[in-house]
Amino acid sequence: MERTTSEIAGIKAFDEQGIIALMKDLGQPAFRAKQLIQWIYAKGAHSYDEMTNLPAALRDELAARYPLFVPELEERLVSKDGSRKYLVRFADGTSVETVGIPSNHRLTVCVSTQAGCNMGCAFCATGKLGLIRSLAPGEICDQVRIVADDFGERPTNVVTMGQGEPFMNYDSVLGALRFLNSPDGFNIGARHLTVSTCGILPMIRRFAAEPEQFTLAISLHSAVQKTRNRLMPGVRNYTLDRLHDSVAAYGEKTRRRPSFEYALIAGQNDTDEELEALVEFCKNMLCHVNLIPLNTVSGTGLKPSTRERAEEFATALGRTGIEVSIRNSRGSDICGACGQLKQASASK
Ligand code: SAH
Ligand code: SF4
Repeated sequence: MERTTSEIAGIKAFDEQGIIALMKDLGQPAFRAKQLIQWIYAKGAHSYDEMTNLPAALRDELAARYPLFVPELEERLVSKDGSRKYLVRFADGTSVETVGIPSNHRLTVCVSTQAGCNMGCAFCATGKLGLIRSLAPGEICDQVRIVADDFGERPTNVVTMGQGEPFMNYDSVLGALRFLNSPDGFNIGARHLTVSTCGILPMIRRFAAEPEQFTLAISLHSAVQKTRNRLMPGVRNYTLDRLHDSVAAYGEKTRRRPSFEYALIAGQNDTDEELEALVEFCKNMLCHVNLIPLNTVSGTGLKPSTRERAEEFATALGRTGIEVSIRNSRGSDICGACGQLKQASASK
């Protein structure tokens, strides 16, 4: 996947290593990289002019060559349940959606990692858009900044469950996670940073080898190959057998428990046969199953399963010793729930 360049994203195209290399190229001492990162990611600077501990000549050079773009808030919607959805527009005009979800002592930010997505999942509004472009590390962090500023609180958790497939934009997503985790950035614990993927297997392997304890969620949605191919055509080459092996290997290597996302769709993946396959797939594996009632997306013809059916799934999984929960979708009245995010600003 092509990286988002500094022509599009300015200084926000760089990850930490990139900023270190840039400072070196500019003949600056190493501590300048740390100062610059603190200004952009810990303090949320809007302009190089604010960075008073950097030499004026360096600020001028950076401003001329690597502009510090700050995205615009194109729209802000507040849900009855307190979650807020933002339409965020970057300097090149591309926009994405971001959701802030407050709960007891937490503030979770659901970020987009790409504008659009080309994986084509049948149940997902983003999938209908196709891919517009991948986001740069700083553009992913910008979304967290917007939520932090709007709530006046430090976000405690970030999940990549907005638009896009994070593992089709691996390097930028890792760069963003590192700024979010860094004490010079947002200082959010690695375990509170969750990547959700549709299952790009080579990247699951790469992710397992990263030194930080980031959290992994995998969109499963069916443990029957034929059904999964139909629902998630973009990952049909990464078969369930291979997915099973990759997730088991991830658990063995990291000793961390990944979760499987399973959106229950009436008559599609909620039959007895599907339940049996799901139990078979998960048993004896270090994992947690998150059952999500499908959010309706117009034009898909897909309907959520009943609450009773979700509870039957949860009971059956629990009975065989599989960790399971039923997730309540937040923000569905503002189309801010999973799979309902798309480019159009008008929310129906
Ligand atoms: N591309 C990544 C992350 C973004 S989608 C992925 O697929 O995992 C975030 C989550 O929302 C995924 O688990 C996805 O499967 C789920 N999702 C998509 N459309 C949905 C819908 N209509 N209802 C419920 N969940 C949905
Ligand atoms: Fe892309 Fe995830 Fe939507 Fe599938 S569910 S189309 S991978 S954003």
